[in-house]
Amino acid sequence: MADGDERVVKGGQELTARTWALIDDVAEELGLELQVVQGGFKAGSGARASGSTHDVGDVFDIRSKTLPAHRLVDVVVAFRRRNVCMWLRDPDHGWTKTGPHLHGVLRDSVHGLSTGAAWQVQDYDRKNNGLTGGAHAADPFPRPEQIPFQLEDDVALTDADIERIAQRTADLVWNRVIRTGFQSDGTFDADHPQKLPARGLLAAAYGKSVQAADRLGIPSSADEGVLGNDLEPFELLPDDQPIE
Ligand SMILES: [Zn+2]
Repeated sequence: MADGDERVVKGGQELTARTWALIDDVAEELGLELQVVQGGFKAGSGARASGSTHDVGDVFDIRSKTLPAHRLVDVVVAFRRRNVCMWLRDPDHGWTKTGPHLHGVLRDSVHGLSTGAAWQVQDYDRKNNGLTGGAHAADPFPRPEQIPFQLEDDVALTDADIERIAQRTADLVWNRVIRTGFQSDGTFDADHPQKLPARGLLAAAYGKSVQAADRLGIPSSADEGVLGNDLEPFELLPDDQPIE
């Protein structure tokens, strides 16, 4: 099981680590403080008005009365984008059983969902409001594209990610090489001649152009380099720390 699947209790409410992170992500995007007043995994102990909806998996209620009224639909939409079937529950939208709140069901909850919550996911997909009886109605809120929320650890690296990381690593090494090869005043450190390979060789080794070396102010004398035509591989000195 991935770390994100772990059940975590915060403020007396239980959700998976991934769902807590998802809620934080929404809060950060909207610049709002989001308070979970009821989590999932209730197994019969949830609020009576919710039936058994919160019994299994990632189902949660967010306090709405402390949020600005004009941002409530933003909250609904932000959660919907992250693959949560989210509705605003208030009297204007068919909810009169308890105080107003936002009710969310993570459709792909790894611990499964209760029958009631699974029905709500289906009802969301039918573009309805997930309420039963006389309150059952069409969904009044916008439908953004749903994109499953993933923790960084969940995500397999793409070729583009690897390329980006490799380039970043090359940049860090390059910067370190340049720093160690020259004194702060730009002069060559004669005590460490091994730190000054030919400029072109150095640039090529780190995927940089000679122009990039020029921009960094490497003197033209570095063109010859102390390695000359002797193409020994350039090595970092043992006292160089691993790159961060
Ligand atoms: Zn709820």
